[in-house]
Amino acid sequence: MSEVRELRITPIRNGTVIDHIGNGLALDVLRIIGARGLDKDSTVSVALHVRSGKLGWKDIVKVENMELSPRKVNAIALIAPTATISIIRDYKVQSKRPVDLPETIVGVVTCPNPNCISNQGEPIESEFRVSRRRPVQLTCIYCERTLDDFLRHLV
Ligand SMILES: [Zn+2]
Repeated sequence: MSEVRELRITPIRNGTVIDHIGNGLALDVLRIIGARGLDKDSTVSVALHVRSGKLGWKDIVKVENMELSPRKVNAIALIAPTATISIIRDYKVQSKRPVDLPETIVGVVTCPNPNCISNQGEPIESEFRVSRRRPVQLTCIYCERTLDDFLRHLV
C-alpha cells in the first residue's frame, strides 16, 4: 500500500498532469496522448481508481517532458470532461485548468456520415460545432450529422 501511495505522489520535473479523469477513462486518455507523441526519455505514470472527494473515484495520468497540443486537450475534453490539466515546469505547477470545449472542434473526431464531404479524401478537415454541452453532442458543420460517441471517431 505504501508503495502505491509513493508512486502516486512522485513529482515530475517537467510535463503534464491530467487529473480528475473519470474513473476508468485513463486508458482512453492515454490513447489520445499517443505513444508517438512522447519524448524518448518520457515517463508516463497512470493511477487508476484513486479516491477523489469530488468524483468518488478518479484516474490520473502524468506525462514527463510533454505538453499537450490544443487538439489533444479538446479530445480529452470530449472523452473526460471532468479532467483538469496542469503544466509542470521545474517541479512547480505553472498552470492548472479544467478542460474546456471551444465552440468548434476541428480535426479531432471524424464525421459518422460516410457520405460527408469531410470523409471523401478531400483536403477538408472535420469540423463540428458543440450543439449541446451536458452531455456533449457535436454537429458536423458540413452535413449536420450529430455525434456523441467520440471514442470510436477519434482522428
Ligand atoms: Zn459530416
